[in-house]
Amino acid sequence: PASTYLPVPPVKLEDHTRSARQSLVGLPVPEIPDGIEGCIGNTPLFKIKSLSEATGCVILAKAEFLNGAGGSPKDRVALNMIKMAEEEGFLTPGQGDTIYEGTVGSTGISLATLARAKGYKAYICMPNDQSTEKSDLLHHLGATVERVTPAPITSTEHFVNLARTRAKEHTLSGKDESKGFFADQFESMANYRAHFQTTGPEIYEQTGGHIDAFVAGAGTGGTISGIALFLKQEMGMGKDLKVFLADPEGSGLYNKVKHGVMFSNTEKEGTRRRQQVDTIVEGIGINRLTENFEAGRELIDDAVKVTDLQALKMARWLVEEDGIFVGSSSAVNCVAAVAAALKMPKGSRVVTILCDSGTRHLSKFWKKVGETGLEDHEQADLIGFLGLKP
Ligand code: PMP
Repeated sequence: PASTYLPVPPVKLEDHTRSARQSLVGLPVPEIPDGIEGCIGNTPLFKIKSLSEATGCVILAKAEFLNGAGGSPKDRVALNMIKMAEEEGFLTPGQGDTIYEGTVGSTGISLATLARAKGYKAYICMPNDQSTEKSDLLHHLGATVERVTPAPITSTEHFVNLARTRAKEHTLSGKDESKGFFADQFESMANYRAHFQTTGPEIYEQTGGHIDAFVAGAGTGGTISGIALFLKQEMGMGKDLKVFLADPEGSGLYNKVKHGVMFSNTEKEGTRRRQQVDTIVEGIGINRLTENFEAGRELIDDAVKVTDLQALKMARWLVEEDGIFVGSSSAVNCVAAVAAALKMPKGSRVVTILCDSGTRHLSKFWKKVGETGLEDHEQADLIGFLGLKP
C-alpha cells in the first residue's frame, strides 16, 4: 500500500543508490528494515554461468547464504519458530527466557543471533564433529554451547534429545520465572512453513514461475518440503515441475525416495545409525524420517546421490570458474543440480539452493578441498570432472 512507502525526496542525479534511482523513476522506495530480523529473506536468485554452459540448461541458485542475520536459510526458520513460540506464550522477550536447540550449527547461529536481537538467551547442543567455525561463532554470539559426541537418535545423549532435556530442566528448575523453550527444528512445523511462506514464493516470483526442476538436500527437510509444497500445490506446477533430492554419502534418504526404504542391502542399519551420516558434508543427509521431510516427501520425484569427492570438486570448480565460495551442502546441491539437468530436456530451468558460505567451513571441508589434490579441471569438462555420465 502507498502509505507504507517513504515520501519521495528530491534526488540529485549523481546519487546512484537504489532508493534514489527508484524514486527518480517514480518507483516506490522500500522501507528500511527495522533491526537485523528485517534483513532476512528476499535473497537474490542468479544464474550459475559455468554450470549452465556445461549442461545446456539454465542453472539458477537461490543465494540463501545472503540472509542477513545468521547467513543461511535457517534465519527464516529461526524467526518463524521464535514468532510461533511468542504467539503461544512459550517465550517472552526480556524475561530471561532461553531458546534451546539441537543443531549441526546453522540453526543455532540463526537462533543465537535472533536471541540477541530479541532479548533471549540461547543454549545450543551440537555434535563435536562439525566445523569449529560454527561453534566459535556461537560462543561469540553469546550462546552457551554444549558439544557432544555423536550418538544415535535413540540415545539420550543425541544432540537433539539433549537440547530437549536441557529445556525441560530449565523450566522445571523453578529458580526464577524464566522459561526454557525447545525450538525443535526437526519436528516443528514452523520450519517448513517458513519456506512455504517465504522461500517458495520468492523463487516463484524471481523466475516468473518458469521452473522445470528444483533440487535441494535435506537435513531437517524443511527447505525441500516447504518449497516443493508451495511450488507444486499452491502454484499448480505438479506435473511439470520435477523435484530432486540431493543426498550425500551415508544418508538414507536417497534410498527412501528411490526404493521406499531407508537402507539398501549394502548398508547395515546398526552401523549407519552410529552418527548422523558418514560424510564430510555438514547440514544435509540423515538416517531418519523427520516431520519436516515427511511434510513434502510425496512431492519428491527423484534423488541424486553425491559423493564427498564430487562435492569437493564442485566446491573448487565454483570458486575457480564463477567466484562462488560456498560450504559443503551447497556444493552437494550443485552437483545434484548438474546431474538433474542432464536428465532434463536442454534449456530447462533448474533451481537450487546455496545454503551457506565457505567461510564457515575453512577448517574442515575447505581444508580437504586443498588436500585432495584435485586434477587441474581446466583440462576436463565439468561432466567428466565430476564423473557424471550424460
Ligand atoms: N545446509 C546447511 C549448511 C544446513 O545447516 C542445513 C540444515 N541442517 C541444510 C543445508 C538443510 O536444510 P533443511 O534442514 O531445511 O533440510
